[in-house]
Amino acid sequence: MKTIKCSQVGGEGCTFEATAETPEEVKTQMGEHAQVAHAEMMAKATPDDMSNWNKMFDKLWEETPESA
Ligand SMILES: [Zn+2]
Repeated sequence: MKTIKCSQVGGEGCTFEATAETPEEVKTQMGEHAQVAHAEMMAKATPDDMSNWNKMFDKLWEETPESA
């Protein structure tokens, strides 16, 4: 399992955390959270922004140690 904080992936000051076995699951949790909590940010996001976000996320996932 790995835990990714929303604040690590652009959710400034946000305390939401997503924990899952795979990056896909965490992305799904983050996506659902962002639609609700960061609707304004999501509405402004371009396909380029999403692509950059995915790259940032994948790098962060690699760098994040496994938790129990
Ligand atoms: Zn958030």
